[in-house]
Amino acid sequence: MRIAVVSGANKGIGYHIALQLATSGKFTNVIVGCRDETRGKAAAEKIANSPNACNVSYQQLTIGDPASHASFCESIKEKYAKVDVLVNNAGMAFKAADPTPFEEQCKPTIDVNFRGTADFTEEILPLVRKGDDARIVNVASMAGRLSQLRSKDLQNKFSDPNLTKEELRTMVDQFEANVKEGTDAENGWGNSNYGFSKLALIAMTKVWAREEAINGITVNCCCPGYCDTDMTSHKGSRSPSDGAKNAVMPATMENPPTGEFFADFGVSTW
Ligand code: NAP
Repeated sequence: MRIAVVSGANKGIGYHIALQLATSGKFTNVIVGCRDETRGKAAAEKIANSPNACNVSYQQLTIGDPASHASFCESIKEKYAKVDVLVNNAGMAFKAADPTPFEEQCKPTIDVNFRGTADFTEEILPLVRKGDDARIVNVASMAGRLSQLRSKDLQNKFSDPNLTKEELRTMVDQFEANVKEGTDAENGWGNSNYGFSKLALIAMTKVWAREEAINGITVNCCCPGYCDTDMTSHKGSRSPSDGAKNAVMPATMENPPTGEFFADFGVSTW
């Protein structure tokens, strides 16, 4: 039995990650974690009916909702007692034309892309620790590059090899507070809530990679590339199927590295 979980798998890149895992011949069960039952069930059925697909099922999952995280983990524990591969794909971005002020976009973006993803991962980690050749892949973005931070000191703090989860969460809170009071630029932060949420996820990937090595779990992250999905209003030049390969690679390759950032179908630099 080999179990993979993919969040936000009802459309876009996540759908193709789930499809590629389900048809890879490497899994017995792929669980698509989606927030909407109708969309999630339809995606699971479509993937399950693809040639050579393993068992594919839908399980309700809203990233950032503690009750949903808990019932998802409880159900996976009951049914499978472990997770071998977790792909944290669910993510959100405000459209460029969205009239919501920058400071009001900050918390909702961070709550899903960083805090919700991190909290959910911590909650499901006990099951991943029971996995065989277990892996976590976080779908981040090139937008999460370290150089977006204007302050070198901040760049050093986020990339410190001894960074702790607590220190990282505190810095994320600080970013949010500075954005709220309009002092983000003078404090050396970048100019993107989305980019910062992905930067924090990349930093967390490296902390998990270090801490979970003892449990035999590899933890990597990726940028799928600029893809043709709803998130980009279909302006992206890469197909979501090709973009998905950047997550599927560390999820399925022999002897994966850990703590790395994959982009353009290989290990890249942050
Ligand atoms: P998308 O088409 O907008 O799909 C996003 C998926 O995430 C949907 O299934 C959505 O569910 C789900 N989702 C959003 N918020 C959620 C939440 N709170 N709980 C559970 N599910 C949630 O976007 P995409 O382009 O495929 O993006 C997938 C990932 O790739 C994201 O993490 C994104 O940041 C990253 N990425 C994308 C690009 C790109 O060019 N497209 C580039 C770099 C990185 P609903 O259908 O219910 O909304």
